[in-house]
Amino acid sequence: MIRYQFLRFPEGKAKALTFSYDDGCIEDPRLSDMLSAHGLKGTFNLTGNAIRGKNALSKEVVVSKFLDRGHEIAVHGLNHRAEGNIRPIEGIRDVLDCRLELEERYEMIIRGMAYPDSGIRQFTNVPGYETVRHYLSELDIAYARTLGADNDSFDLPTDWLCWMPTCHHDQPKIFEWAEKFLELDVNAQYGSARQPRLFYIWGHAFELRLKDNWDHMERICETFAGRDDVWYATNIEIHDYVEAYRSLRYSADGRRICNPTLLTVWFDVDKTLYSIAPGETIFIDK
Ligand SMILES: [Zn+2]
Repeated sequence: MIRYQFLRFPEGKAKALTFSYDDGCIEDPRLSDMLSAHGLKGTFNLTGNAIRGKNALSKEVVVSKFLDRGHEIAVHGLNHRAEGNIRPIEGIRDVLDCRLELEERYEMIIRGMAYPDSGIRQFTNVPGYETVRHYLSELDIAYARTLGADNDSFDLPTDWLCWMPTCHHDQPKIFEWAEKFLELDVNAQYGSARQPRLFYIWGHAFELRLKDNWDHMERICETFAGRDDVWYATNIEIHDYVEAYRSLRYSADGRRICNPTLLTVWFDVDKTLYSIAPGETIFIDK
């Protein structure tokens, strides 16, 4: 009898790391250089100012520094307005206008988002989170990153439209939590503690300039870089991979599994690693 099955990231890795940086500021290319130099990947959340304001990142910079390196660009509201503080129709417009403009400019499909400003941390002109959640899903936003509850649980989100990061880069415990994350041998854990783990860091690159702590960011990158058991991915890559895993089809006893998605999906069944290619069906002989 199969006892537990857990997602494993590509190549069977049990852990993943991602970054999320907001506002499309002029310091972003330097951060991109730093992440890429260490083999790390992240998501840059762009606003109207980043697209066409006074300090806008040029199309060439966005393409060469973000897209060509495999980083993601995502929606951050055309006018950077907090969904919890504006009427739904205004929130819909801010998200949709940002999405339309980014997609037209970069000729791609953009489904990721980070909540601007205070996001969904307070509700003054909206009944509550469910209203925002409903319209974001109608706008085909696949995930939206929130903030304000740093923690070291390293869990994958259960609600993509309320994706809580592990911490901001200035979280005082970041290196303590990084050590806990990196030293954890997920596959050696007992029973239900063998779930995959994610470390998710967010911030603004301009904070690194204001605090003059680029060396701190460099140390974060060095700490996490070069680990064989960590998948370095953008936010949308993690979302799409986890959703592919959740789309697997099973026989009633869970032993015959079909992968109807376009991604090769990896998982662990009672300490045996399996992968299923797109369109493939496998039988778990346990
Ligand atoms: Zn912002």
